[in-house]
Amino acid sequence: MMDAPRQDGEAARVLQAHRGFLDAKRRGWTFGRAEPEPWPLDAQDWKSGRERVTVSAIMSKTESLSCDIAIIGGGIAGLTAAVALGSLGFEVTCVDAQPPQPEKAPELDGRTTALLQGSVRALALLDVWPRCEAAAEGLWVMRIVDESGRREPGTVTFDSREMEEAPFGYNVPNAALRQALLARIAGMKGVRHLAPVKLETLRFESAQAVAELADGRSLSASLAIGADGRNSRSREAAGIVVKRWTYGQTAMAFSLSHSHPHEGVSTEFHRTSGPFVLVPMPGNRSSVVWVERERAAPGFLALDEGSFRHAVQERTRGVLGTVEQVGPRFSYPVGTLLAERYAAHRLALIGESAHALPPVGAQGLNLGITDVATLAEVLVEARRAGQDVGAEAVLERYESRRRPDVVARVFAIDGLNRAVKTRFPPFQALRHLGLAAVERVPGLKATLMRQGMQPVGEVPSLMRGIPLRPL
Ligand SMILES: Cc1cc2nc3c(=O)[nH]c(=O)nc-3n(C[C@H](O)[C@H](O)[C@H](O)COP(=O)(O)OP(=O)(O)OC[C@H]3O[C@@H](n4cnc5c(N)ncnc54)[C@H](O)[C@@H]3O)c2cc1C
Repeated sequence: MMDAPRQDGEAARVLQAHRGFLDAKRRGWTFGRAEPEPWPLDAQDWKSGRERVTVSAIMSKTESLSCDIAIIGGGIAGLTAAVALGSLGFEVTCVDAQPPQPEKAPELDGRTTALLQGSVRALALLDVWPRCEAAAEGLWVMRIVDESGRREPGTVTFDSREMEEAPFGYNVPNAALRQALLARIAGMKGVRHLAPVKLETLRFESAQAVAELADGRSLSASLAIGADGRNSRSREAAGIVVKRWTYGQTAMAFSLSHSHPHEGVSTEFHRTSGPFVLVPMPGNRSSVVWVERERAAPGFLALDEGSFRHAVQERTRGVLGTVEQVGPRFSYPVGTLLAERYAAHRLALIGESAHALPPVGAQGLNLGITDVATLAEVLVEARRAGQDVGAEAVLERYESRRRPDVVARVFAIDGLNRAVKTRFPPFQALRHLGLAAVERVPGLKATLMRQGMQPVGEVPSLMRGIPLRPL
């Protein structure tokens, strides 16, 4: 009884939406796809995401969609995969649980990403980088200050100009990158973006993967790509187990403005409670990743603006002059995750569904973009050779190209994070000696810089700036 008026309201909204759809169709509007969907889902595209899911939930209980490749998860890794594969000529559908929220830039999640040159080259070839470049800042110098021992802080400085006249990479707000990806997808005929809608179940049949969505629709594809983050449901559906561990740390992320220019210098203070990292943004602004002990972080997050600014000022050691304004604070758990496999029958994993790292050394998303560039290359070569893109032999090629790089970086970052945390004096002394060696041993610094910049093993074409030939 109580529900009746609500149902009437919903029915009226559905009818209104359907009318809107027909009206739009009469006027010849399309919604980012060559063929509009038969149900009023797309009629809601100019309305809010919330209405859109209500309508699709009611009207499309039995709708079955199909495509070449279904991407589960539309974070930055999933959206980049949609652009890369769509621009090669694959029919792609990307399903994401979150509303697109293109209007929420620039403070979407407080995070920025330091993208290394290879990732920037790939995004430039995909026509994504020009759409967010203005929000990015070049990273020319990386300074590491070891404050974790009892001795005087040790410092090592890596200058990209010692290798070539180009920065190590660029720091870009996640929100700007996400907006750029969404804008690029909106203009692509072969890419369908369904959001917000959740994957409920994923099953693997002999010739296809079938995703059942929370709005009642099903989506079948020759290959499913799991891009649904650390708690990936697609990974779980394939029975892929993970190793994961935490460090008792929380990462706080925010941006700030300061009185002195940063001059393209990124500074990592290594402290036993966790790193405190300043990364340049355009103008006199920087983004901060402040890692603290899990039990201490809530106290810092709860500080009033003035006290928090004071705590931040103290930790910057004045390298940026006076800290002026501090933006909204966000927090993330710090942990490592490593999937046992990155591929299974009709499934490939990319991004944090396959691997996650503590936020030091700017590796996380760079690994995700390397996954995308490698997978795109393997899949387009397979299709051109007449192979099934979901076949195990094809996906094994992807896995064997990615595993050595991911494992090497996961253990390097894990080791770095543990080494910084340690209070055991002999290890502290070793760390100090290590930093001194980097400064003094000829050639060591350049070798470390190159290793930090390039994936281990074969570098995918997109990351070398070589476009892939579409189908
Ligand atoms: C503070 C901080 C700083 C960082 N700095 C850097 C850096 O400088 N450089 C760098 O390279 N990396 C950095 N990283 C890491 C980087 O941010 C992550 O690796 C990256 O954002 C992960 O992207 P993703 O797309 O793989 O996963 P996510 O962003 O987790 O995306 C997963 C998506 O899947 C969707 N999803 C989940 N479940 C479902 C479901 N059932 N159905 C449908 N959709 C679903 C979610 O809605 C989400 O959109 C940093 C991380 C942190 C926390």
